[in-house]
Formats: sequence, structure tokens, C-alpha cells
Amino acid sequence: MYQSCEKYLNNEELLQFLKSYKEQHGRYFDFESIGKSSLGEDIYLITLTDKECKHHSEKPAFWIDANIHASEVTGTQGALFFVERFLDVKHEQASVHKELMKKMTYYILPRFSPDGARAFFKEANSYRSTPLAVKYDYCDFKRQDIDGDGEITLMRWPDKSGPFKELPGHRGILVPREATDFSMDSDIYYQVVPESVWNNYDGFKKTKNYDFGYDFNRQSPSFFSPEGLQKGAGALPLEFSEIRAVAEAIRARKNVFAANSYHTYGGFVIMTPANVEENKLALEDRLRIKKMGETLSEKTNYSLHSGADDFIYIPGQPLPGTFDEWYYLHLGIVGLTIEFWDVWGKAGMTWERAVEKYETLSEKNMLKLLTWAKENLKREQYFKEWTSFEHPQLGKIEIGGFKTAFFMTNPPVKYLGEEIEKVFNILEKLSGDGKSVNTYVGISVCPRP
Ligand SMILES: [Zn+2]
Repeated sequence: MYQSCEKYLNNEELLQFLKSYKEQHGRYFDFESIGKSSLGEDIYLITLTDKECKHHSEKPAFWIDANIHASEVTGTQGALFFVERFLDVKHEQASVHKELMKKMTYYILPRFSPDGARAFFKEANSYRSTPLAVKYDYCDFKRQDIDGDGEITLMRWPDKSGPFKELPGHRGILVPREATDFSMDSDIYYQVVPESVWNNYDGFKKTKNYDFGYDFNRQSPSFFSPEGLQKGAGALPLEFSEIRAVAEAIRARKNVFAANSYHTYGGFVIMTPANVEENKLALEDRLRIKKMGETLSEKTNYSLHSGADDFIYIPGQPLPGTFDEWYYLHLGIVGLTIEFWDVWGKAGMTWERAVEKYETLSEKNMLKLLTWAKENLKREQYFKEWTSFEHPQLGKIEIGGFKTAFFMTNPPVKYLGEEIEKVFNILEKLSGDGKSVNTYVGISVCPRP
């Protein structure tokens, strides 16, 4: 069993992993710091190649980046699995992997945002990418692990006009109130927001404003939209040191020809570019992107989507400033985003539109999710019982609800290995068979003589 399948690695454990691989596999493995995070942590890039067969920069290279979003730590594990499997001398494919490393280079960025990951391991679900304070007035709501249990769950308080109610027969489980739920003199309805405090609390305003902080995956220069048009984007492209360092690193490696960006969650393969019409792309590129997406989707059972007209939250508004769109449009690197882990699929839920998965669950889907969770996990793994708490601003409330960090956002550890292995298996296939090499779904890249 690999370390990447057994435990989610925090920043210290990640560095230990990198050091130990460098010590044990010096011929094939190297890592370096490509820059510092906003709060001063190193951002590491792994180079995986056979150093005795040409310099890494002289071979065609495949790029993986992960964990640009603080809570999406499965991506880090997937990136490390890649290293472990490639350097596993006992694995039946070991000779193929060695052959590939003679002819190719793999650049692997396991943790795009070390600040974000550190915050996540301290108090899950606190930030989108980084703990940096957002410099905009509307961010008057700050997620915080106020009961100190190590995870930000939910706060609820009874309210006659609250939009949630308990699912009958299921203690503590909240579902949206129906339009026909009229009992206005009852307090069986709840207001629900993440564990939080408000800045400048006025004793009245209890709604949730945008509170997730900056999003490095809206910070790239292609089709950038500033804060105001795109929340979390900041004022300028590449404004933060993390995205600047990673952008410089991939740009400097001219041999990179294909890339994958690892995210969670949902079980999606999302093709780029989103902001350019498909028929305006070169036919060759279009076919490559499609083939890459289809191969990944078919073997992982993750559904395949286009960032242009399918995987969008607001019709007609594809996401601006994403990293994978930028490396394709500005650097010519063909790639896509993989959203690991689909608890909805495991529970047998279905959807008309992919992004509906991120919305509040209906009663019907909630029942399916609960059934799966009960059959496969212990209740304390996915649910925190509602517990009375004295909130500094709201007074008496309850804290509890789904513990999403290792249930919905990332797989519980017992499912982690299968999840990251199935994506690896496709990548391995896509990156060549060791003989014909240099074939990322038909992209012919000739190693320089
Ligand atoms: Zn993400």
C-alpha cells in the first residue's frame, strides 16, 4: 500500500515524502521550491525523469498541478500516487515506467497553495485558496471553527421564516423547506450558515455574504475578470505569489506539451477552453482535447463536460481566469481539469446539469446520500450531532451537520486509493506505452535528438 492511499499528508508530511523520495530515488526524482506562498511557505515542484538519459528539459513533458483550492487535498494525494507508482520497482509495470522516464519528463506540483492546505488541516472548509484577508467591503462574514473541533460545519437557529427543516424520521438532517410548508407559528424551521462570525455585526444582518476568500483559479491572465465581476479574483491577474510562481514555472518549461489540473469534487472531467468557441479552435487541438477528455471519462466513470457551455454556473458566463484555460490559450499546452470523487454517484443520485451537484440537496437525493453513508461509514465520520453553543454575536445556537471535508469534498480514506489509482491508470495509458512513447492521446511530440 502506498502512503498516498493511506493518509492525507499535511505540509510537513509532504516535505518528508519529497525528501525521502529524493534520497531513495535520486536517479529519477528531484524536487525544488519554485517560490514562496503569500505567508512564506515553499511551493514544491517535482521532476520525475531518468536523469541518466538526457536533461529533463530536453524531453517532452507532462504537467500535473493539484490543490490550488485549499480543501481539495485529494489532488495532492493523486499527484503523489503518480510518483509512488512510477518508482515502485515491484510493480508489474515497473519496466514500462522506467522506459517512459527515459523518454519523458513529468513535472508534478502536488500543492499549489500550501497556505490554503495548512488552513484546511487546521479547520476544514475555511477558505477557497488562501487565508489572506479579502480587501473588499462585502466580505463581512468570516468562516471560523468557533467550537474548536477542527472542522467548520454549520450553525443553525430556529426561525419561523427559516429555509430549512429537519427531514422527517432523520434526526438532525436538514433539507430545504417546501413552498407548501406554511406553519408560521412553529419554530421547526431553521436558518443555517457555516460556522462563522461577522465583521461589524449590527445585531440584525445574519445573511451570508461571500466569505470564501481569494480564488487562485480565477487569477490567470486569459479572460481575467477582476473582483466585482468575479468574486475571489482579486484586482489583477497573477496578483498573488502562488499563482505567479506556478505560472512562471510552467512557462519556463518549454517542453511541457500536456497537463492536468487536479481538483475535487463531483467526478467530472472538464474540457477547456471555456471562453473560446469550439469552432474557433484548431481542429487538431479540438480533437486532442476531446480524445483526452473522453478517454479519462470513459475509464473513470467521471462525466465529461465542456467548460464553455455545460460546466457553467450562470448561463452564458463561462468561468474567467482559470489556470487550465490559460496554459492552453497562452502557452499552447493541451490540458483539462479533473474533479476527483463523486459521492453522489456512489449514492446513486442523478442530475440534469453537472453543477446542480453543488446546490442544496433535495429530499429525494438527501435520502439516497444518507442511505449510502449509513451503509458505508460510521455516523461520526460524516455527521456532527447538533450541539448547543453560545455564539458571541447570535447568542444560543446549535453547531453541527454534515462533516463534508472527508465525505463530500474528499473521499474518506478507505476510498482514497481506488479514486486516485483509477485516474493514474488512465494517465499512464495516455502518456504512452513505453515503446511508441510521446503519445498523449495522439499528440506527437518528438524527443529532441
Ligand atoms: Zn477546485
